Amino acid sequence: MSEQAKEQTLAEQAPDNYECRVCGYVYEPGKGDNNGNVSPGTLFTDLSNDWRCPICGARKTQFDNVGASDAPSGFQENLQFGLGVNTLTPRQKNVLIFGCLALGFLFFLSLYGLQ
Ligand SMILES: [Zn+2]
Repeated sequence: MSEQAKEQTLAEQAPDNYECRVCGYVYEPGKGDNNGNVSPGTLFTDLSNDWRCPICGARKTQFDNVGASDAPSGFQENLQFGLGVNTLTPRQKNVLIFGCLALGFLFFLSLYGLQ
């Protein structure tokens, strides 16, 4: 590491995750790779060049940097968060939204019933 590394924020220092473009497996440095004899804390860039994806066997060159999991950056990984809402189809979202509205309306009506 160079001098430059010391001036990075904590978020920037968080190790980057790498996602397999072939199968979607995400290598997390904090977990390592049990199957590949990689101990937790090993950076993806420190993996040996003959390391393969434990799921599909893809080479390191088939992996994309998807950023640190706890850093605010990284748009690609956001797709997997939000309790899966981001991956819903527009129709599913409508059902969810209007379902909540209907529930809220019923709740509102029930307040009148109290008086
Ligand atoms: Zn893979």
